[in-house]
Amino acid sequence: MAINVLIVDDSGVMRAMILKSLNMSGLPLGDTHQAANGQEGLDVLNQNWVDLVIADINMPVMNGEEMIECMKQKPETKDIPIVVISTEGSEKRLERLRQKGAAFIHKPFSPELIRDTIRNLMGLGGADDGGAD
Ligand SMILES: [Mg+2]
Repeated sequence: MAINVLIVDDSGVMRAMILKSLNMSGLPLGDTHQAANGQEGLDVLNQNWVDLVIADINMPVMNGEEMIECMKQKPETKDIPIVVISTEGSEKRLERLRQKGAAFIHKPFSPELIRDTIRNLMGLGGADDGGAD
C-alpha cells in the first residue's frame, strides 16, 4: 500500500523538511503533494486521491484548523487521517484539533517522531519494515 500524502505549510523550508523526513521514514510513500495554505490544500484534495494530510496551523488565506473543518464537512475528505505539525501552544486549540481526530506534533520535530505518529495514526504497526531509519 502506497500512501499519497498532502503537506500543507506556508513555509517552503518546512514543507521540504517534512518531505525529507517522510522520505527517510521507510513508510511506503506514493504521490506527495504540497500546498501553501488551507485553501490550496482543499484544492489539492478536490483533484487528487490523498491518504494522509500533514498540516500546519498558522497560515495566511486559510489556516489549518479552518481547512480541517472544511475537510470534516465533506464525505470524500472527512475520514482522511490528519497530522498537525505546528508551534501552536494554545491548549484549547490543540484540544479542538484532537477532538476532530488529528494527531499533533510540535515543531521542531524529529523524523522518527513523524514516522511513529503516522504509523500509529494509520495503523501501520510499530515494527521496522526494513526501510531507511
Ligand atoms: Mg505557518
